[in-house]
This record gives sequence, structure tokens and C-alpha cells, in this order.
Amino acid sequence: MLDTISKMKETGQFSSTSSRRFQDAILGWYDANKRDLPWRANRNPYRVWVSEIMLQQTRVAVVIGYFERFMEQFPDVHTLARARESAVLAAWSGLGYYRRARGLHATAKVIVNQFEGTFPKSARELQNLPGIGRYTAAAIASIAFDEPCAVVDGNVERVLGRLTNAADMNARKAWTIAQHLISHKRPGDFNQAMMELGATVCTPAKPVCGECPVSTLCKTKAPIETAKPELRIKKEITYALHITKGRVCLVKRPAAGRLMPGMWELPLAAANANQESLFTLRHSITNTDYKVHVVRQKNLPDNDFQWFSFAKAERLPLTGVARKVLRKAGLIE
Ligand code: SF4
Repeated sequence: MLDTISKMKETGQFSSTSSRRFQDAILGWYDANKRDLPWRANRNPYRVWVSEIMLQQTRVAVVIGYFERFMEQFPDVHTLARARESAVLAAWSGLGYYRRARGLHATAKVIVNQFEGTFPKSARELQNLPGIGRYTAAAIASIAFDEPCAVVDGNVERVLGRLTNAADMNARKAWTIAQHLISHKRPGDFNQAMMELGATVCTPAKPVCGECPVSTLCKTKAPIETAKPELRIKKEITYALHITKGRVCLVKRPAAGRLMPGMWELPLAAANANQESLFTLRHSITNTDYKVHVVRQKNLPDNDFQWFSFAKAERLPLTGVARKVLRKAGLIE
């Protein structure tokens, strides 16, 4: 068996017997251990698609609530295509990487206008849609339509690198090996099992090899690299919270800006103004941890601003930190 795995390292080949053993082991483990996640309730391609886009660069625990609320508001691709962009951005508010929301909305319109709201079934056709790359196309095709096409994300690449003890594992090799290993009976479950194994057992820093269903096939059984602690940047920022007659003052970020274009936020507090501290909170964006000060001050912002009722503000595409501040101030849910 180990010889076969060594061969796999070089060629991506796995004998049919060992492939079946691998599939049985990982699918059995997945059936017994898979996390109960809302997008796994059924195999609707729309739900698979939305979840895969939300999960890009975002942790599962964060995505769960957003996914459930998004599905309540936009239960199918027709509803999403008909929605205003500001409503989609408002539902995404706080999840970050807002280009994903705009892309999702634009692609929903294409699916409705060019495909009458029916998702193409093959990975090849799905990849022709704007904003759907190889990974997302393979995830939808395998999970929703049982097409045996492998999915490789960072987790899967790491698992395959360790299984084969290949320090030179890269995405191209990983796609070849994963495609060779995939179960043709249960391709969607196989792909999810591989990602789940990487996320929960064969983790970057501390793989739990004692609980690994494929440990007998693994050449490494230990990390071959130690994850370096991420360097985080610390910053402080001060926002002004102006409230009058049940309305809050907000400013719009530039439409042509690189970060969060067109979204609404609180005005930055003027320097040296007479200020009364209200509260502070913490907020993180990618690798930066902010200490956010919220103050009351007399001077209104110099730049353009608008007043919104609290109810209206809640429905706006707010930046994540603005939503957090308004929630903490008790102005919105
Ligand atoms: Fe990862 Fe350990 Fe399983 Fe190998 S035995 S795949 S290193 S968890």
C-alpha cells in the first residue's frame, strides 16, 4: 500500500483498490462526523453556490448566520436577481469582501435572463458564468448534480501534501490526485469530506492524526510545516455618532474606492474637536485589529453626509464596523 502511495506522489496515480479503500474510509468518517451546516440541508445548486461564495476567505462559524438570513431574504435565484444591489449589500454587511456580493447579484441576473433561472449542470458550463471559477463550478456540479469532478481548496491541498509526504505539493498536482481519488458514486460527499478533514482533523498547525480516517494511508502522520503565527497590525480609529430626532448621520464611501465602495459608514471624528467618549469596541478586517472609539461631538462632518431614520439605516449597505457601532449603541437590531 505504501509503495502505491509513493507512486502517487510522483504520478498522481492510485490503484483502483487503494482508491476504493481511501473513498470508503473518508466517506464513512464523513457520514459519522460531518458538521450540521445549514447549506447541507439539501443539494439545491443555488444554496450550494451562495454558501461557497460566502465561505471564500471567511470562517464557517461566521458564515452560518449570514447564510440563514440571506436565504430568508433571497430564497432563490429569481429573488436575488430582482433585488436592488443596495439590499444585497445590506444583507452582506459585516461579511466583508463586498465584491463577492456584487458578483453574486450580477451572476444571478445572468442565470435568470439567459438560463431562465435554471443552473447549468456541468462544471464546464458553470465555469462560463461570470464570477464562477474552477473551484466553485466543481463544488456546485459535484454537490448538486453528482458530477465526479474534484474540488481542491487550501485544506485539500494540505491533506494531499501530507498523505503523500510531498513537500512540493502544489495546486496543479493536488487537482490531478484529487480527481484520481474522487468517488464516482458520491462525488459531492467525497469533496466535502476532503475539505472537512482538512478543516477539522488535518488542520494546519496541529493535525489530530489519532482521529484521522486515512492515517493508515498517510506517509506523514504529522505536520511537515509549522504554521507561522500571523502578523497582525493594531490600529485605532475614532468615529463620531451624531443623532438627532431619531436619525443618525452617515457618510457614503467613494463609489470608485478600492475598499467597500458605495457603502455607508459613520463619519470620522474631527481631530481636536470637543469630544465626549461614548464607548469603544474591537473590530478586525483581514490582518488588522482596530480599537474603535465612538464619540459624540458638536461639529458635523465637513464632507457630504445624510441623515437616516434608524429603521432606514438598518436596511442600508453599512460597513461591518458601522453596523457593529449602531448595534452597540442600541439603534438597530
Ligand atoms: Fe493529516 Fe495526520 Fe491524517 Fe496524515 S494522518 S492526513 S497528517 S491528519
